[in-house]
Amino acid sequence: SRPDLAGEERPRRLVVLAGPTAVGKGTLSAYVRDHFPEVWLSVSATTRKPRPGEVDGTHYHFVDEAEFTRMEQAGELIESAVVHGRNHYGTPRGPVEQSLRDHRMALLEIDLQGARQVRASMPEALFVFLAPPSWDELVRRLVGRGTEDEEERTRRLETAKVELAAEDEFDVTIVNDDVRRAAEELVSLMRSH
Ligand code: 5GP
Repeated sequence: SRPDLAGEERPRRLVVLAGPTAVGKGTLSAYVRDHFPEVWLSVSATTRKPRPGEVDGTHYHFVDEAEFTRMEQAGELIESAVVHGRNHYGTPRGPVEQSLRDHRMALLEIDLQGARQVRASMPEALFVFLAPPSWDELVRRLVGRGTEDEEERTRRLETAKVELAAEDEFDVTIVNDDVRRAAEELVSLMRSH
């Protein structure tokens, strides 16, 4: 993918939030989007099928494989990855650039592979690792969410183990003990970055 979003300061307003599966990245970023209007939340493209209640263009841009490949090849994605060995996910470039031009803080909620790609092209961004209070709590959240079957849960927990070991690649860790508290910590970090 193309490096740079042009300018020295702009990528500093870019914040990448990553962390293991089921840690609550989605809930936290939706909370930030809904409570802190100064933060713009990137909407990813994915080949995954929508879950009940998910709205195209709000939660994701739901696309098929052909369209995803086209976007990738046209350089329209800042980063992209196959997550949990299955579906493609990627961050559309245009809206991120627009948000930075508008002097808004941009938040990307992506997986570890994607975070590494963004760090390679935009090292000035702030990289935040969202950690669970404990491993048991992470398992409890994944089971409680009830959106995956047993096989998929096992697969995601394997990924989570690897992802938890990557914490020290990040600038800062936030523990997701309480969504409101974690959101306030994240936004105050973003403001001071
Ligand atoms: P889910 O299918 O549960 O919505 O998301 C699965 C995983 O994909 C999560 O870990 C989420 O952070 C990650 N993800 C969502 N959007 C993107 C993206 O644009 N790029 C990358 N690399 N990962 C993403």
